[in-house]
Amino acid sequence: MIEPELISFNTDDHFMREALRQARKAARQDEVPIGAVIVHQGNIIARAWNQVETLKDATAHAEMLALTQAESAMEDWRLNECDLYVTKEPCPMCAGAIVHCRIRRVIFGCPDVKGGAAGGFWNLLQAPNLNHSCEITSGVLGDECVHVLKEFFAEARKRKQDGLVHIKGAANLLQNGNATIFDGP
Ligand SMILES: [Zn+2]
Repeated sequence: MIEPELISFNTDDHFMREALRQARKAARQDEVPIGAVIVHQGNIIARAWNQVETLKDATAHAEMLALTQAESAMEDWRLNECDLYVTKEPCPMCAGAIVHCRIRRVIFGCPDVKGGAAGGFWNLLQAPNLNHSCEITSGVLGDECVHVLKEFFAEARKRKQDGLVHIKGAANLLQNGNATIFDGP
């Protein structure tokens, strides 16, 4: 018999740590570090990181890739019993896809007041005119999620100043000189 205290770890933190692992994979590939996982009945059924530059596809955000994997795993586009963990608040494109797939709950790390669509700027996940609404939990491991993004852009700026290499994910952002961590996908 399993004693309750043995399984007392915070489940949201646990799954967000896996999303952070995906974000770090993105950083290693010079992609803006955002990671996502989708959980069904306590099991991770999808893991993805932002691959916009690698796939040369503006729709290849971590959430979009994770949703496709989850639909494949469930053999259904309806993901009503699935929860999506992502290191940064979803953008409008991803929020739209999340609602279409009927994800039950969205858990994110750092908010995006400029482009977030889970309450940061818009709230498409809980729009009263749509036929599905998601539960939202924000700020899970928020500091760590922000840190991964800040570290990536600081490193990218340094490499650019040193004239070292072309930074795939950050090149365009750095050209305008006033990029913030929220200018990523
Ligand atoms: Zn997105």
